[in-house]
Amino acid sequence: MLTTKLKQKFIQIVGHENVIDSSAGRLVYSYDATPNFQSMPDAVLAPRNTNEVAAIIQVCREEKIPLVPRGSGTNLCGGTVPVEGGIVLLFKHMNKILEIDEENLTMTVQPGALTLEIIHAAEANGLFYPPDPSSMKISTIGGNISENSGGLRGLKYGVTRDYVLALEAVLPNGEIIRTGGKLAKDVAGYDLTRLLVGSEGTLAVVTEATLKLVPKPESKQTMLALYQDMDGAARAVSKIIANKIIPATLEFLDRPTLAAVEDFARIGLPTNVEAVLLIEQDGPPEIVDRDMKKMAEICLSEHAVSAQIAVSAEEAEALTTARRSALSALARLKPTTILEDATVPRSEIANMVKAINEIAFKHNVTICTFGHAGDGNLHPTCTTDVRDHDEMERVEAAFADIFEKAIELGGTITGEHGVGLMKAPYLEWKFGEPGISIMKAIKQAFDPDNIMNPGKIFAKETRKRTVISK
Ligand SMILES: Cc1cc2nc3c(=O)[nH]c(=O)nc-3n(C[C@H](O)[C@H](O)[C@H](O)COP(=O)(O)OP(=O)(O)OC[C@H]3O[C@@H](n4cnc5c(N)ncnc54)[C@H](O)[C@@H]3O)c2cc1C
Repeated sequence: MLTTKLKQKFIQIVGHENVIDSSAGRLVYSYDATPNFQSMPDAVLAPRNTNEVAAIIQVCREEKIPLVPRGSGTNLCGGTVPVEGGIVLLFKHMNKILEIDEENLTMTVQPGALTLEIIHAAEANGLFYPPDPSSMKISTIGGNISENSGGLRGLKYGVTRDYVLALEAVLPNGEIIRTGGKLAKDVAGYDLTRLLVGSEGTLAVVTEATLKLVPKPESKQTMLALYQDMDGAARAVSKIIANKIIPATLEFLDRPTLAAVEDFARIGLPTNVEAVLLIEQDGPPEIVDRDMKKMAEICLSEHAVSAQIAVSAEEAEALTTARRSALSALARLKPTTILEDATVPRSEIANMVKAINEIAFKHNVTICTFGHAGDGNLHPTCTTDVRDHDEMERVEAAFADIFEKAIELGGTITGEHGVGLMKAPYLEWKFGEPGISIMKAIKQAFDPDNIMNPGKIFAKETRKRTVISK
């Protein structure tokens, strides 16, 4: 809890109505979308502008109070759980689209702007903001930037990092910096913009971002290819790319995920096949026609049961919406859903899916898998129940095996969800001790008092592969 003196300081900065310190109010911000992690903050503050953010940070620095920036709390790595208490910082007042610059093809936004609002605002101007995490209806751009989020369009268009041109951020000493600009080229000094993207709120608070926009694609088509064997689907993925076609979307769902999604969305998806590929291409109509035809041929040559192009925009939209709802659909099966995002080179997808199934069998847990096949970014998702301690231990052991296998296949422990609390114990597996040391040195240079989102990315010795619940 805040002392009366500290509370008064914060009220002076943001106003009485923007300080929450009741038990019920704090409880709401004690957890995020990640199961099994919870810890109470001391207070929740909602600044109205960058200067207020800077003033809050200065108080936190003087008093050594932890500070956890929070967008919509949809991250899946425990990234906004205030494990060491302190202040949760909300951006509900700093949520505006400040400018769309059609000459420079940029959009400047505040951190609390919702991803889908950004996408819609770009489209209303004939432009396109491609990063489309499945959570885009509720996720904020501040969260997307800090997790370097990806989405269904990542294969062709890249991830959030590829669209952040400039940032305004408040450092842990309260100073305000501006990085980058509305520039296609900029090699002045270290690339602080890229360093802050994906830094999970551990280095600075992002208070404004300038995003790159591209022209809106002229047309789009969507196809569903059905398979009775996973290997055929995986071979089709590799063959499409080897044929020098980069589809806008190349997604994969296994049978259990498909069944859950159909039960949720009820759009007539087949539930009697082993795997489906959801494929989209966008661009000039003649190129889209050509690519879709070629991709259908490739899918059939790898023994797809069928490869059907959606006949209407509505049908296409229903298919992609169904795919985006995979996590929500699986979450209905059991009380707890743990979704991971182990990522491998796309040539290893079939091996990774096979390994995931073997690991699930070995540990006697249920794991459904879907994900961005074109990126090698899989979402093995365990449906379980946190109250079953024995099963939770097996789930944790299964995910440890999955991360180990991903790294063995040349992959990584997270392709888009970030490290946060959840994967901190595994980061060293990916980087080794020298890699962790240099990252810690960067953290120390930015945040010598360790007030910015402490406990995230780097695991304490005591936390190695344990679950926190405070
Ligand atoms: C159903 C569902 C589907 C999802 N699909 C995807 C997907 O397809 N792709 C994907 O990549 N992720 C996905 N996610 C994960 C999540 O939505 C993303 O990580 C998203 O970017 C988080 O945004 P948020 O606003 O909720 O951020 P939060 O969860 O609130 O915060 C995320 C991180 O950003 C930091 N942060 C937030 N704002 C700031 C700021 N202004 N300055 C500094 N740090 C800040 C926080 O401290 C935290 O570390 C999904 C999650 C769910 C629940």
